[in-house]
Amino acid sequence: MGAEALARWQHPELGLLLPQQFIPLAEQTELIHPLTHWAIEEVARQVRAWNDIGAAVPVAVNVSTRSLQEPMLVDFIVEVMASWKMPPGQLKLEVTESALMVNPPRAIELLGHLRSLGVRIAIDDFGTGYSSLSYVKRLPVHEIKIDKSFVMNLATDKHDLAIVRSTIELGHNLGLEVVAEGVEDQETSDRLAELGCDSIQGYLVSRPLPAAALLEQFLGGAPATPGLVLAAARTAYRGD
Ligand code: MN
Repeated sequence: MGAEALARWQHPELGLLLPQQFIPLAEQTELIHPLTHWAIEEVARQVRAWNDIGAAVPVAVNVSTRSLQEPMLVDFIVEVMASWKMPPGQLKLEVTESALMVNPPRAIELLGHLRSLGVRIAIDDFGTGYSSLSYVKRLPVHEIKIDKSFVMNLATDKHDLAIVRSTIELGHNLGLEVVAEGVEDQETSDRLAELGCDSIQGYLVSRPLPAAALLEQFLGGAPATPGLVLAAARTAYRGD
């Protein structure tokens, strides 16, 4: 039902770098802006290529704390969607609670604007930040993604189970879709289905893959498109 764009940096001397090895550094500098712009444009380009061969996959992009404060972000996204003829509903922006809490009125305005254009908004790593529930109620988001630290031991830890169950209920009562992150085994997936979770993401569905491999794995034999985007797939319990 969808994919999330994840960044990897194949460094000529240091080898493969993971986001936690370069995103914090980019965040401390202005470099986070070109990086975020590159990721959004790369997703739009990939979605266009997939749409052209009949594989309309929605793709999520992570937006960092600094990028959420960038005045030009909305204009940039509008421009990119137009130039790649990307349907706004195929773009999802993921923002963390802590990013939202830096300047909540600004986040509400920016995300509200994007939402009105048809872009989907998700709160990422939900449960790890310090967001107040009064803001969660007011944020113009479509879904919450329960952080993997609560999901991973769900089948054996009754406290994690209680947190996940309550979060699914909270999300649904607020009219939001609920995604569980970090699902690695069938038992956890089954428990989440029983709890009414809308969809899952994690190694059980797919490990991160290059875009071309993702298409091949999920659509079987469709022509590969060149791409730098790495994606983690999601799956739904309910098809409707
Ligand atoms: Mn994410």
